[in-house]
Amino acid sequence: MPLDRFRRDIHYLRISLTDRCNLRCVYCMPEDMTFRPRAELMQDEELLTLVRLCAELGFHKFRLTGGEPTVRANVVELVRGITQTPGVRSLSMTTNGLLLKQLAQPLAEAGLQRVNVSIDTLDATKFKRLTRWGEVQDVWEGIVAAESAGLLPMKLNAVIVRGYNESDVVDLAQLTLYHHWQMRFIEMMPFGDVAEFQQNQVVSAQEMRNRIEAALGPLTPVDGGKLDGEARLYHLADGLGDVGFISSVTEPFCASCTRARLTADGKLRMCLLREYEMDLLTPLRAGATLDDLKALVLTAVYHKPWGHGLAHNMVPMNRVMSEIGG
Ligand code: SAM
Repeated sequence: MPLDRFRRDIHYLRISLTDRCNLRCVYCMPEDMTFRPRAELMQDEELLTLVRLCAELGFHKFRLTGGEPTVRANVVELVRGITQTPGVRSLSMTTNGLLLKQLAQPLAEAGLQRVNVSIDTLDATKFKRLTRWGEVQDVWEGIVAAESAGLLPMKLNAVIVRGYNESDVVDLAQLTLYHHWQMRFIEMMPFGDVAEFQQNQVVSAQEMRNRIEAALGPLTPVDGGKLDGEARLYHLADGLGDVGFISSVTEPFCASCTRARLTADGKLRMCLLREYEMDLLTPLRAGATLDDLKALVLTAVYHKPWGHGLAHNMVPMNRVMSEIGG
């Protein structure tokens, strides 16, 4: 298992398949975002090589993200290739759900186990304002398709933005009364050119909890308040599902972080909110051996930053969220 210098066991790799997206969420990227030329992104074989060597080093939990992972050409074949890689125990995907109506079944057949679907509001007008381009009905149909394809348990993600959807936490949390879903609310994090907006409009997990409790009654901590991955889970009385809060800004969980991220242009990024990255694609293209590349991965893991520096106003400027993957 790769351990970092703080003895955290880093075994979870989140891979961005592309920086492109079919939405332009206000909290994620500027509307006039420029994307990297395709030649700068990992080609399928390159990506599978990096997955293989990470799996050989002990990474066993994998997630595909983006941009929007479902807009990547060959996504189904890539999923098949990753799940067939020795050492890969789990593969899931974070998606905006727009293309799941067509893709959920083929992805499940190729070996994808679960999806996290982003849905920030159930209101069509607010959804369009937040995503700039999207129709919430398409996401809903994607969620239904993912459930029928057996991509379970279903987790839904909502980023809460003041002035856009802070009151929608109630309707979203209410979904857990009738569905076996995990509805997770995410505190907005600041990146690059969008940081000022993100910092001004952030809503704390505590405020979200207060709003939900005022409308729907007490939230009881699940498992004595232990973290489930990055989310602290709660339960509404008589609810079938759980309500989770990902409070990276106000209650960071860096001490239990097990993640590394591989950007679509082949850089290993060791903390979402720190600029430090190790380039793997350039040496791979220059003919580095698998052993050379493994040594680079282990060096990057060793130097994984302890945690982010938001409390000291340190904001990563080299990428926005859609270029890292969340
Ligand atoms: N396109 C996919 C999606 O919408 O889920 C995957 C990529 S997206 C960058 C991954 C996750 O990051 C989504 O749940 C999204 O809502 C979240 N996200 C984007 N920008 C964020 C920000 N500034 N702070 C916190 N979460 C953010």
